[in-house]
Amino acid sequence: MTEQARTALKQLQHLDNQIADAEEKVTGFDPQFAEVEEPALVLESEVETTRKRLQEMKVEERRLEVSVDEKRTRLKRLEERMGSVRNLREEAAVTAENDMVKRALQNDEQEAFTLIDQMRKIEDRLKELTEALAEAEALVEPRRQELLADREAAKADLERLRAEREAFATDLDPRELRLYDGIRAGGRRRAVAELTADGACGNCFGMVPLQLQNEIRHGTSLIRCEACGVILAAPNPEESTGGEAAAQG
Ligand SMILES: [Zn+2]
Repeated sequence: MTEQARTALKQLQHLDNQIADAEEKVTGFDPQFAEVEEPALVLESEVETTRKRLQEMKVEERRLEVSVDEKRTRLKRLEERMGSVRNLREEAAVTAENDMVKRALQNDEQEAFTLIDQMRKIEDRLKELTEALAEAEALVEPRRQELLADREAAKADLERLRAEREAFATDLDPRELRLYDGIRAGGRRRAVAELTADGACGNCFGMVPLQLQNEIRHGTSLIRCEACGVILAAPNPEESTGGEAAAQG
């Protein structure tokens, strides 16, 4: 096999395309996870919101309790004062204050009553949601575990390929490797392509000038396609299909 078959570069390209496919496979799991986990996530967020609301109501309940206690204490003191009033004017003042505090106390109590009623409903709702969440999680867990295992396997494949690529690349001519990497840097899958039988670039199918064709077939220097920039390799007669370079899109 001649140097011009660019066998090593083509092998590298084959590896890199396998790596690109493996990367795509790994990221392809993301939407699958999202789909599987979505119903539980929706419930989880509802549970969270409901729990927060209940927490806020408890704070409000506590505030009302303090307010009720305060007013009861005030009423007690007013009762004591009522026993020691010295004239009608003082009695009228104490009575007026007593009425006012009593009304405020009734308001607080009514508010607390309504609040406790609402809290009971929210607690029921929270219980329902928590149960539904547990159910949803139990339901998707096997599928999630399956996806996790598949993704781990895909990641392991990817790591193996990357290690293989790294080892392989150390044996290549650094200049060629740099050029190859540069061509692929923009995300192109093909950096090296074989000449077709009729002397065209195997990537863009632009005709390659005769003199360059000869250089590619018999020379040693590295030639790139003037139209698309790929490194051109001599066709490998042993590979009937033209190999990886022609098979990859
Ligand atoms: Zn080309």
